[in-house]
Amino acid sequence: MASDPDCIFCKIVKGEVPCFKLFEDAETLAFMDINPVHDGHCLIIPKAHYPTVFEIAPEAMEAAARITARVAKAVNAAVKPDGLNLIQANGAGAGQSVGHFHLHVFPRRINDGVAINWDPKPGDMTRIAEIAERIRGFL
Ligand code: AMP
Ligand code: ZN
Repeated sequence: MASDPDCIFCKIVKGEVPCFKLFEDAETLAFMDINPVHDGHCLIIPKAHYPTVFEIAPEAMEAAARITARVAKAVNAAVKPDGLNLIQANGAGAGQSVGHFHLHVFPRRINDGVAINWDPKPGDMTRIAEIAERIRGFL
């Protein structure tokens, strides 16, 4: 299993750094974020080191997604937030600060001021169609 000796999440997987563990199985680990935005903020990671979604193996993604849904339901039951985001950052421009793939289970409160929401405005349909065509070329 890929591991990076300098990666904080790999150290958590190996038990070299402590965590508030929620769940683990052979592929996946879920634990509390130690800088929570709201009660219940936690993280789901593959045990293997993949920096971002661009490297992650499909099976690792499937396992992480399955556990994320399970943990999200448990968080929702335990802290009863007003809503809950699943967030996953890839690269500095997306706000990724730990280079080991992770999903945030991110409980929300109404008017909590967290700056990840935006006001949807109608797009340019020609531009949307062009970009869709470009993306399809890579699928
Ligand atoms: P991101 O900014 O999307 O890369 O998220 C990384 C998250 O990891 C942040 O929310 C940090 O608070 C969290 N984090 C960093 N180190 C630890 C740690 N040792 N234990 C738990 N959470 C951590
Ligand atoms: Zn790692």
